[in-house]
Amino acid sequence: METIHRLLPISAADTLIFRCPRTPRFPPLPPKNPSVFPAGSPALEFRRRFSNGFRVSAGWFSVFGTRQRAVLPEIVKAGDPVLHEPAGEVPVEDIGSERIQRIIEDMISVMRKAPGVGLAAPQIGVPLKIIILEDTKEYISYAPKNELEAQDRHPFDLLVIVNPKMKKRSNKTALFFEGCLSVDGFRAVVERYLEVEVTGLGRDGRPIRVDATGWQARILQHECDHLDGMLYVDKMVPRTFRAVENLDLPLPVGCPQLGVR
Ligand SMILES: [Zn+2]
Repeated sequence: METIHRLLPISAADTLIFRCPRTPRFPPLPPKNPSVFPAGSPALEFRRRFSNGFRVSAGWFSVFGTRQRAVLPEIVKAGDPVLHEPAGEVPVEDIGSERIQRIIEDMISVMRKAPGVGLAAPQIGVPLKIIILEDTKEYISYAPKNELEAQDRHPFDLLVIVNPKMKKRSNKTALFFEGCLSVDGFRAVVERYLEVEVTGLGRDGRPIRVDATGWQARILQHECDHLDGMLYVDKMVPRTFRAVENLDLPLPVGCPQLGVR
């Protein structure tokens, strides 16, 4: 896991702000694995092959079959339409299917390998409403204590949410830097609600509800945005956008300060 020491988790937030001595906070990882989606844009390829609503299809597995275990999908990068268009609902009766379960397994593997603290299915080229998130003691140990407190960041176990629906639970917001595995190498300040409620279905098809605060609420908002075809750059404070190596530089004059509003 040498990458963990170089990188920072973050699909959602850079929370990530893993500080190494002089901040390469999270140098992006170069993709190491070939895509399970044959050629060209993963999303477009996926659509070309499975444009019938992404329902379970025997062909799906006969095409990718066991290769998918050995070769993880690549993380789709900004610019691919799958990241900029709304994802579709997963039919409830399909959640237990081998195809959907495989997608979830792939998402978990991809997120942990990156490493990141959240991932949405469109980020592996699958335009379906599935998000996962996880924050660990280890990831958190890389961040300074005062930052963790300001961000209200705590470890939590893996969450898989199918067809999530989010509601804010208060109007309180906070501004912090975020990054995204699909926008490698950059960060920007994004204002997010401090308390949200997310309902949806677990990977077993049962209803679940998550009442989240602080950093977990931020990750949930970031991942749910992916399902609406939104990246953090669509919501950022524009003048705070920066290369990761400049993360510690001061905010430009006139930008809102980080923290709870
Ligand atoms: Zn993201």
